[in-house]
Amino acid sequence: MRSWPILPPELFDMDLFERTEEQDLLAAMLGRFLGDTTSPGQPWAGDFWRALGSELGVLAAPFPEPLGGTGGGMFDAAIVLEKLGEHGLATPYLDTVVMAGRALLRADENRHDNLLLAIGKGDEIVAVAHDERGLRGRAGPLRTVAQADDAGWRLTGLKCGVRFAPIARYLLVSAHSEDSDGPGLFLVPADRAGVTLSSYDAIDGAPCADVLLDGVHLGREDRIASNAAALSALLLDGEAGRCCESLGLMRAMLRTTADYARQRKQFGKRLADFQVLRHRLVDLYIALEQAEALTEAAVQGLARDLDRRPLLVAAARYSASTELNRVARDAVQIHGAVGMMIETPVARLFRRATVLQREGRDSQGSLSEVALCVGATLPDTHHDLLGRLQAVNAGAEALRAEVRAFLAKELTSELAWQADLETGAFSPPHVSTAWQRRLATKGWVAPGWPKEQGGTGWSPRERQAFEQEMALAGAPRLPAMGLQMLAPVLMRFGTAEQKARFLPRILTGDDFWCQGYSEPGAGSDLAGLQLRAARDGEHYRLNGSKIWTTFAQFANWIFVLARTDTQAARHRGISFLLVPLDSPGIEVRPIISISGDHEVNQVFFDDVLVPVTNLVGDENEGWEVAMYLLEHERGVGHQVPTLVRELARLRSIAESQPNASDGSMWDDPLFRTSFAQLEVRCLAIRLIEVHRVYSPARVAASQEMTASVLKLLWSEAGQEVDELVMQTLGSFAVVDLPDHFRDDEVITRDTNHKALSSTRRYLNNRVLTIAGGSSEIQRTVLARHILDIG
Ligand SMILES: Cc1cc2nc3c(=O)[nH]c(=O)nc-3n(C[C@H](O)[C@H](O)[C@H](O)COP(=O)(O)OP(=O)(O)OC[C@H]3O[C@@H](n4cnc5c(N)ncnc54)[C@H](O)[C@@H]3O)c2cc1C
Repeated sequence: MRSWPILPPELFDMDLFERTEEQDLLAAMLGRFLGDTTSPGQPWAGDFWRALGSELGVLAAPFPEPLGGTGGGMFDAAIVLEKLGEHGLATPYLDTVVMAGRALLRADENRHDNLLLAIGKGDEIVAVAHDERGLRGRAGPLRTVAQADDAGWRLTGLKCGVRFAPIARYLLVSAHSEDSDGPGLFLVPADRAGVTLSSYDAIDGAPCADVLLDGVHLGREDRIASNAAALSALLLDGEAGRCCESLGLMRAMLRTTADYARQRKQFGKRLADFQVLRHRLVDLYIALEQAEALTEAAVQGLARDLDRRPLLVAAARYSASTELNRVARDAVQIHGAVGMMIETPVARLFRRATVLQREGRDSQGSLSEVALCVGATLPDTHHDLLGRLQAVNAGAEALRAEVRAFLAKELTSELAWQADLETGAFSPPHVSTAWQRRLATKGWVAPGWPKEQGGTGWSPRERQAFEQEMALAGAPRLPAMGLQMLAPVLMRFGTAEQKARFLPRILTGDDFWCQGYSEPGAGSDLAGLQLRAARDGEHYRLNGSKIWTTFAQFANWIFVLARTDTQAARHRGISFLLVPLDSPGIEVRPIISISGDHEVNQVFFDDVLVPVTNLVGDENEGWEVAMYLLEHERGVGHQVPTLVRELARLRSIAESQPNASDGSMWDDPLFRTSFAQLEVRCLAIRLIEVHRVYSPARVAASQEMTASVLKLLWSEAGQEVDELVMQTLGSFAVVDLPDHFRDDEVITRDTNHKALSSTRRYLNNRVLTIAGGSSEIQRTVLARHILDIG
């Protein structure tokens, strides 16, 4: 059995993502200073640099206290880089402070503390000379060579595109050291004989040079490191730093573009009023959020020396560079001709972005790096490895162990097999209810509910651990309509009687609920609903129909939105009612979906009487109740962890599909690249969920926004995983399997049953971006929040 590398568990420890108060202050102070004193793309200015060092103390911040800093390390450096990026400034901060500074601090041979002190004050600039023709941010092979001689070293080679070399007093040069047969880092005074600069300005205003080293004499003390790890650390710092600057740039371009779209008028309205531009801006925001999540993880990886930091940095760099490119291009596009003028801020930012994408590794190089360790974020098929994927932190570790022990005992091969064969967006009741009953014995059916209602009382971290373990193990999904959607609504809006009557039965699975929102004439525009609920004494009399009602054929209850006041404005006059499906006058008619499965129905109401006591919230105030429910439908629960499970399914299918050269698709380089792209994306989504849902500091932020961000992300990523599954299956993907393909007589347990259910899943999963608020509707919701354009 091959074992796969896995990501460090600390990565998902949400506390790592919180900034300290001091860091917030640093960001605010620097932001103010840069706003007051600089403009995007301004030429290099030594005064500004010295002010950063001596007045603000920003340059030394990452260094330890004895060297004038606060010991903020990579965390503080990330904040500074992001701010510099936000102001579109080309500065030597990344090269001098982050790359060279941290390399000097790590130096195993000669530390040069005086130089570090001078860097901190803004008195010295060190340029990093690593790239050579064709090297593009990779560690080697290096053509620059350091030959040992009696006095020290003689350096020979050509370094290309060395930023800030013309104004640097020192160059930090990587070279193949002949004595150690590996790379070394050398501190070279820029005015030393044999150093020749061929200088030019880059399009972001940075002074650069190609540097010829022609037998440059160095002393022994000038080599600061002589091992591959030192060079690798230097390069990782550079890549992570570029990610941070990219975030700042994206943020600035997005802000500038949104401002422009709000004030520029064409066709008699603001650009921001055109839906196509709103949605485009939302996509840019989402791009930024993904790059941000991965960059934070990379910074964590470096600051905490996590084992898999090269992978984290490569993933972040791939994302940050790709998304920066997209944001930059769209930002100029949305500015129209104004974006083409060199003095417009967006044009300046674009020029800086163009350079940043070309420094160090480019996005394709970073993606290749990720593809080398493809599958690193997935669980192994063994539980012991599965466990290692997640937290070692105190609170959740004990729970994880308990959950895994429970899964080992209770998730029978029969249940896991059935869950694997599922083809729809929800687990069918015979699977989900069986699993629910097993969880009920442990009190784990409703991790998100408060303890007094039968929930677990777990902390967010524990809840997250639980959800992830369940998804990673391939446990069936629970019936969401009651547990995740209706229950929170009853807890917030229900009467004491309703809570007492319905919540316990949701918990035990005695009631199976379905959702009656959509109607033939009311889909995305839910407020157009027409199901009439006319008051008739102590009852409502319901007439009309609901459509696309998932699993109504199995449910015994339906919650419906009905119009109780036909005169009121559209969003008023709607009420939220609980209706027994065996009420006289209800008829459920099946609708066969695109896959051939029967999941949805049309439900007809013909003079159906519903007691007034089944009204949830106030009469005519059901819209608020309905929206609260949608937040729970869209946002949280198993969907994001399920992405990892779907990737694992894809891997399993790829391993069982032959490729053209006697191997499996899993070994195919093109497949691996596509898989790596998806893996990076899913990792970003998982990290965003950690930020937005489980991080206490951010829970207070708009829940509607969180729900929409996550719904958009998991549904679209889920469909992309499906696409790759279909590509991987090749001609098998078109086989129309019979309805009874679940039976053992049709497939044996040796068959890759994950492949068998894939085509139907693919067909059914079209729904992911349609139901629960389509992707277009999510973008419209997000535009309101993000762009402040009501
Ligand atoms: C398999 C399945 C299961 C479902 N289960 C349930 C269920 O259990 N209960 C329930 O109540 N409903 C359910 N639905 C219905 C689902 O919620 C609706 O399909 C959804 O709200 C979209 O409505 P619609 O299908 O009428 O599409 P429409 O609203 O007609 O939209 C058609 C297209 O136009 C786009 N569009 C619409 N308005 C706008 C706009 N303003 N701006 C830009 N684009 C727009 C949409 O994004 C979509 O792409 C289910 C649907 C499916 C397919």
